[in-house]
Amino acid sequence: MRYEDVYRRSIEQPEAFWAEAAGAIDWETPPERILDYSNPPFRRWFVGGRTNLCHNAVDRHLAQRGDQPALIAVSTETNEQRSYSYRDVHREVNAFAATLAGLGVEEGDRVVIYMPNIAQAAFAMLACARLGAVHSVVFGGFAAPNLALRIDDARPKVLVCADAGMRAGKVIRYKPLVDRALEACAHPPGAVLVVNRGLDDALELQAGRDHDFDRLRQQHEGVEVPVAWVEASHPSYLLYTSGTTGKPKGVQRETGGYAVALALSMRAVYDIGPGQVMFTTSDVGWVVGHSYIVYGPLIAGATSIIYEGLPTSPDPGIWWRLCAEHGVRTLFSSPTAIRVLKKQDPDHIHRHDLSKLQYVFLAGEPLDEPTARWAGETIGKRIIDNYWQTETGWPVLSLLPGVDLKPSKLGSPGLPNLGYRLKLINEVSGEECAAGEKGVLAIVPPLPPGCLSTVWGDDQRFLSSYFSHFKELLYSSLDWAIRDEDGYYFILGRTDDVINVAGHRLGTREIEESASGCALVAEAAVIGAADETKGQVPVVFALLRQSAGDTDGRQQAAESIRARIVDQLGAVAGPARIYLVEALPKTRSGKLLRRSLQALVEQRDPGDLSTLDDPGALDAVKRALEQGS
Ligand code: ATP
Ligand code: MG
Repeated sequence: MRYEDVYRRSIEQPEAFWAEAAGAIDWETPPERILDYSNPPFRRWFVGGRTNLCHNAVDRHLAQRGDQPALIAVSTETNEQRSYSYRDVHREVNAFAATLAGLGVEEGDRVVIYMPNIAQAAFAMLACARLGAVHSVVFGGFAAPNLALRIDDARPKVLVCADAGMRAGKVIRYKPLVDRALEACAHPPGAVLVVNRGLDDALELQAGRDHDFDRLRQQHEGVEVPVAWVEASHPSYLLYTSGTTGKPKGVQRETGGYAVALALSMRAVYDIGPGQVMFTTSDVGWVVGHSYIVYGPLIAGATSIIYEGLPTSPDPGIWWRLCAEHGVRTLFSSPTAIRVLKKQDPDHIHRHDLSKLQYVFLAGEPLDEPTARWAGETIGKRIIDNYWQTETGWPVLSLLPGVDLKPSKLGSPGLPNLGYRLKLINEVSGEECAAGEKGVLAIVPPLPPGCLSTVWGDDQRFLSSYFSHFKELLYSSLDWAIRDEDGYYFILGRTDDVINVAGHRLGTREIEESASGCALVAEAAVIGAADETKGQVPVVFALLRQSAGDTDGRQQAAESIRARIVDQLGAVAGPARIYLVEALPKTRSGKLLRRSLQALVEQRDPGDLSTLDDPGALDAVKRALEQGS
């Protein structure tokens, strides 16, 4: 199969293509129509088809692979490892579904899940899917106000939480955060279901509202809850974007199209079939976790590893050890995590037998060339950059090893995925860009199956956030990109992050790449700061490697950053100021919060910081600004 042929068919004959793809999952009632696009840009795939995510992820596999591991839960925080076969998962999910149903959860009801990255989080999600209830997973450890906001948006009947999570050996008590969130919100759920891991000695349950999961489930042991067959467009879940550019948006996902897109991507993108092992190092609180820890691998009949812990503990070889031990074929992680591992002794990789490992996929943020090169050389496997969004639910740009693996190009997440018709639009003229011309990345609607159906409860925000940027009706989350002669895309950053220096348009990413290519630099962030004469000027924030120690070393580092940028990108890109900082502000999902840096430099209000990971990072930046560059 040639990629070009399969891709062309997915674009030119979408209905035939997706009708065929729909055969990969079970339908209780097959779709009457493949696509209804009578109300653009809203669209419905597989109209009239009735299916269920839990059935496709679990029940469907029982006959053939009931004893095969479905989920292997590893925690290097509690030092536990447990393998659940498909039959085990079926039992656990039924117990969870029966318990939720006992608390009144019915089809269409929302359930907020606030859990660490443990198997019970996946069981809770699958249990909701079984009942046709809509889950909204909130990344564990988010502060009470974030949780309260999401509760008020979803108005759940039940909230599922754990007593606590753990990070770097420290217990993070969840229940007091839940209590605080419930006090603060206008639409608290009637019941809280607590999975008690025994981590919090001071755990308190409020009579009448809070329930111990283990105690309730005893009433439902061995019960099989019938699957709720829902129409393809029935919402499966809500999930919020990372909040990198502003207030997070509540993505609403459909059911049928999502199952079909995941089944297709498991085969075409991740090259994982039944019985093969995938390890996605993300957290169930993010879209990568939803799609490729839980639903994708299970729909494929594969084995999925869910991991609670740091990539560096008990030692920086832990992920590679798990790959060797479980015969992982596809590892899916993020550039941030790889940059952490890059600082470690490569022997932590080499001492493990990675003969089964074929691919390392990385997604979520730009994969800079130095990191990509290091990973390719040191891990010795195909490194595949993956570009997508919470909104899309599955990759937009990737290479497709399961179809036809094309060569990689450093700095590029590759080619359009099946079903995605892309355009690059010139911001000024609104016309489509030619090869080699920078523009805004857009998806030609209708959005393929699996992508968001709307913003939860806010069709208007769906239209204004994604479909109102160009004269043509196009979807865009406003990333800036360029396409080369071979059709490969390069993501240059977000349009918000474009710096306009005296009429020259520079991507923050280009300058960051250049700066982080300096041997002394561990990571760099670049923003455009308002400037009277030039409009904007680049300002660099650099985090140095430990080895850059003393004042002279730091001075030299700043000089070499400047020299390198000017040398590679020209004098226009020359930074107006370079600040050496102790930490960079990031979202909980590990993305640079450039807008907060820009606001500090321009002495403005930084806006919504609810998803900021470590407030201390902003203080570190303030200190650096006070000291001057
Ligand atoms: P918000 O939409 O709330 O501002 P966010 O865009 O960071 O937050 P996510 O859905 O987590 O929310 O991230 C998607 C974005 O991450 C993409 O639009 C893109 O900017 C960036 N991204 C993801 N993968 C890549 C990649 N491989 N290369 C470059 N950028 C990427
Ligand atoms: Mg976004």
